[in-house]
Amino acid sequence: MERYKENQLKVYNSLSKTKENFKPITDGYVGMYVCGPTVYSNAHLGNVRTFMFFDVVYRYLLHLGYKVRYVRNITDAGHLENDADEGEDKIARKARLEQVEPMEVVQRYTVDFHDVLKNYNFLPPSIEPTATGHIVEQIEMIKEIIAKGFAYEVNGSVYFDVHEYNKKENYGILSGRKVEDLLNNTRALDGQSDKKNPQDFALWKKADEKHIMRWPSPWSDGFPGWHLECSVMSTKYLGESFDIHGGGMDLKFPHHECEIAQSKTCSGVKPVNYWMHTNMLSLNGQRMAKSTGNYILPNQILSGENNILPKSFSASVVRFFNMQANYRSILDFSGDALEASEKGHAKLLEAVNFLEKIEAAKISTFNVKTWKKECYAAMNDDFNTPILISHLFEAVKVINQIKENTASLTAEDLVILKETLNAFVFDVLGLMNENMQNNSEKINGVVELLIKLRKEARENKDWALSDQIRDELIELGIQLKDGKEGTTFSLN
Ligand code: AMP
Ligand code: ZN
Repeated sequence: MERYKENQLKVYNSLSKTKENFKPITDGYVGMYVCGPTVYSNAHLGNVRTFMFFDVVYRYLLHLGYKVRYVRNITDAGHLENDADEGEDKIARKARLEQVEPMEVVQRYTVDFHDVLKNYNFLPPSIEPTATGHIVEQIEMIKEIIAKGFAYEVNGSVYFDVHEYNKKENYGILSGRKVEDLLNNTRALDGQSDKKNPQDFALWKKADEKHIMRWPSPWSDGFPGWHLECSVMSTKYLGESFDIHGGGMDLKFPHHECEIAQSKTCSGVKPVNYWMHTNMLSLNGQRMAKSTGNYILPNQILSGENNILPKSFSASVVRFFNMQANYRSILDFSGDALEASEKGHAKLLEAVNFLEKIEAAKISTFNVKTWKKECYAAMNDDFNTPILISHLFEAVKVINQIKENTASLTAEDLVILKETLNAFVFDVLGLMNENMQNNSEKINGVVELLIKLRKEARENKDWALSDQIRDELIELGIQLKDGKEGTTFSLN
């Protein structure tokens, strides 16, 4: 359904710092790129907040009927410990400390990342390209930037010439930083680097003898600069100009500023129409970050193995907690906040499940059509999930009133309410119906128990009871199959 035709989406563009009407380059199609994780350690819940928001953006665009190509990369090389192109590669460092291959580090944390995404009900992106899978393209882009006069080689490393670029373009267009101010702030690095100016950033770094992640290039055996992979992979899969580019706020500078400079130099056109940035998840008032140890891992919340929370929480509750805040606000994580979300989440899903049992009445006491419009209006207003959730709770109130016979809905309104509520709760917010999950676990448990009792009956040669269990289960649509390994069952 082409719902986008009657829903004018507005997106807060970090570039213009205003909410703008969203108009894709090609009608009906959206190209979206989101900077993915650097796989040198487990993604923490802060990272997951950012990825989860873009999962909801993706889900809503799909719900509106857009054909979306969603690219989220895996950074598996080139991300140095320090944003100013200094220090060791994060992955190489971990490999050195643990005495394993860098690609073992990459594999371990990519697998962990995918496990988290599965547990938290993420939709997979359309393409998940890696930096190391695009070294050739990165070398080609560097050649192009050098040929255009915006990069220079020193001792086997290649740097982007920010001053040259800034003569005609605006380095700082996204972050609002001024090249002159950057000069003052980065003086500490002067003299320690091959760069002409401290603001210049690496496109290629020559690897010293100890550096294990290295590739041949026209300049040296080395590795690409971190910012380059995103310019290369976004252009390769989405084109020179595409619709949406996302990431956490901390990536605005230098990462996204550098991406714009690289891409614009090569193509001459504005690379991205809408830049979207999520605000940070904090813990104890401080930004959640691996480097400070101030973090919790998403799977630790599910297992309860952590020192921060009083108990375990489900992935759907954590999703709900994230979506209760606007993505552009700081969100503080705590056990109390999660417990409050857990209550709200249970109330919402209880109402969604009860909705199935409601019978239609002759009149409606609630204006479902207006309510539906308000739900869409909330999401159309820059993906305002907390406002959407407040509207979902208006529906919860009505459902509970119907339960108590103090409200009613016609058959037509009931259908609209069901469709809309299910669409927003499950398809768009990606919440999971744990009651259903629990029920299927319970059914499995009960059938296993009956299989055990039937086995005991057979051992006692009580064939009548054994057959009765089998036949009555068949009537309920549960088929037992006796095999060498024991009895299994299938649900028809
Ligand atoms: P990284 O793996 O460090 O490149 O980060 C992956 C994504 O997580 C980036 O978009 C970061 O901006 C984002 N991110 C990092 N820390 C936080 C945080 N505390 N809250 C929200 N997003 C974060
Ligand atoms: Zn990136």
